Amino acid sequence: MSTPFARFATLFVLGASIALVAPSLACADGIVKVSPEAREFRIGDIRVAALRDSRFEFANDGRTFGLGIPPERVADTLRAGGATGALYLEVDALLVRTGDRVVVIDTGLGKRFDGALVRSLALVGVLPAQVTDVLITHAHGDHIGGLAAADGTLTFPNATVRMSKDEWAWASAHPDANHPDAVAIVAAITPKVRAFAPGEELAPGVRSVNLAGHTPGHAGYEIASKGKRLLAFGDTAHHYVISLAHPEWPVAFDADAAAAGRTRAATLARLAKSGELVWSAHYPFPGVGRVVKSGGGYAWRATVTATAAAP
Ligand SMILES: [Zn+2]
Repeated sequence: MSTPFARFATLFVLGASIALVAPSLACADGIVKVSPEAREFRIGDIRVAALRDSRFEFANDGRTFGLGIPPERVADTLRAGGATGALYLEVDALLVRTGDRVVVIDTGLGKRFDGALVRSLALVGVLPAQVTDVLITHAHGDHIGGLAAADGTLTFPNATVRMSKDEWAWASAHPDANHPDAVAIVAAITPKVRAFAPGEELAPGVRSVNLAGHTPGHAGYEIASKGKRLLAFGDTAHHYVISLAHPEWPVAFDADAAAAGRTRAATLARLAKSGELVWSAHYPFPGVGRVVKSGGGYAWRATVTATAAAP
């Protein structure tokens, strides 16, 4: 399996078989079922909540992170960052309540993999039918998988689906890229998609940011209110230790390694300078924190703000 998509496809097939045999089994190189969980916080006047969906587990075998780098060096980097053993990527989503809009950013793996997103949403009192907008950072299966079921039933029937024009063009042309239900999902959302040019404001205080590289139309979403800011930066930097300590190390999932590397370097430098909050779907839940300079690279500082429940 040499391509990044093939690697994802392997995981999805493995995850499906695990789910059939033992839904809660944590195994190497698979998809781990998680319990629903939500953490509420605020960005100025805007109510935000991180929502759990699922979790990936990868062996440190040189096939995903640090391509071409000896696994011992990757393990040393993980240890120095306080992480040991396997590599984990959480798969989460973000709820943003702004004005009269109920916005969900990314949708996790979806029903086929027992994703917890809808149950996490219920913990903060939101029903799928109340969601007005779904903002997609990019069209990989762990971000669009929760948009629709295999039979085409939309998870958020009243929501407009937003993604960048370049991403929608790419997703439409490669609907079977990396999720077993991707063809059905792309067909189901087609009447719901309103593509945008990055930079556009999509809801009060929510603006799209061009972060192309990981995929052709990869976009981030900046949430701003009363001088506070948070950037949902998608898969700009996948792993909270490795991708920050060594942003120059290639990652198997980047569609264009050179462009992704440039975007990662520029974005991390900007975030370390601005000190603004960041949310990642893949960092330890709730995935909210700051990027700081550390050694020759960067480090992740999870913030306590995210664990405080909103009033
Ligand atoms: Zn991802």
